[in-house]
Amino acid sequence: MPRTILVYAERRDGQLRRVAFEALGAARRLAGEDGAVHAVLAGSGIVADDAAALQARGADVVHIADDPSLGSYAPEAYFAALRAAMDAVRPDALLLGHTAAGRELAPRVAAAYGAGHVADVIAIEPDGGDGALFVRPLYAGKAFERRSLAAGHPWVITVRPNNLPPAEPGDAGGRSGSGSVQALVYAPPPLLTAVRGVLRRAGGQLDLAEADVVVSGGRGVRSAAGFEPLQALAAALGGAVGASRAACDAGYCDYALQIGQTGKVVTPQLYIACGISGAIQHLAGMSQSRTIVAINKDPDAPIFGIADYGIVGDLFEVVPLLTDEILRSRD
Ligand code: FAD
Repeated sequence: MPRTILVYAERRDGQLRRVAFEALGAARRLAGEDGAVHAVLAGSGIVADDAAALQARGADVVHIADDPSLGSYAPEAYFAALRAAMDAVRPDALLLGHTAAGRELAPRVAAAYGAGHVADVIAIEPDGGDGALFVRPLYAGKAFERRSLAAGHPWVITVRPNNLPPAEPGDAGGRSGSGSVQALVYAPPPLLTAVRGVLRRAGGQLDLAEADVVVSGGRGVRSAAGFEPLQALAAALGGAVGASRAACDAGYCDYALQIGQTGKVVTPQLYIACGISGAIQHLAGMSQSRTIVAINKDPDAPIFGIADYGIVGDLFEVVPLLTDEILRSRD
């Protein structure tokens, strides 16, 4: 059955996020050959390249809300932009990234439109008929739920970054070049809060949620300086550094790096846990990683229970060896 799907093409720091392309790929498959995929770009000073990138990857129509009120993320403003897009498109489904903004906007839109809402989707499967099953993890990844959505109501779906195949340039196929760009009728709402400035941490790293490789440190890292070998390994692999809560609580690193039940959820291709025991609350944030490597000097550490590869040893010996080997293999 052809469907009309709307994708919220999230941008950050003036760039489209990779999860926008992952949502777009899912939208193209959900829409079907004869369906339509629309994308909404919201921000201030949106460049034509972003619309073109979405069209090249399968968006039939790109709707743009370009306004100074959308310069910094403000939930009221972005919600208003999404409403304008929902009203213009009347889609069967809205897809967003399961990001901080997506998690905030999706339930608002679902409530406003009486839509069925499924959050944190990691796979979309055929249901044997006309519909789709949305797979989401439960209980820190110990179980999976497959949800279908009632026909006749819109759906609002958030997709977890790094799980669905992204739409690639050329996925537009025969549609290429036929798409249009339209300005949304967007009236800036009164903002209840205003961003006065953003202070960036020096040496900001890759977004943990979208990194392909994450090297994480736990209490076993012992100090802030103990994170340096992990940073070197992450740099060699083009990845980001994460941490357990114990490492954050001990002041070895910033809470922004915390992975787990009360931290970030990551699903990289490769997760390297260094000096992390593997408490259930930590696993909640990383157990869906494609390949897990654990380095721990305790052979009975629970992390080895979910690791694909385990190295029993002192992280301060093993991590530099790994880094050297990776750098040498490039020479
Ligand atoms: P530890 O459990 O102390 O493990 C340290 C490990 O390092 C040990 O296995 C040790 O063998 C190893 N080690 C020591 N030295 C070396 C060395 N030189 N080389 C190699 N290995 C070494 N935790 C999270 O991570 N994320 C969360 O979001 C989170 N949320 C929580 C929410 C709640 C409500 C609660 C109650 C807890 C939460 N926790 C969370 C805490 C969690 O229960 C654990 O306490 C925490 O994950 C332990 O961190 P750790 O593995 O770094 O430390």
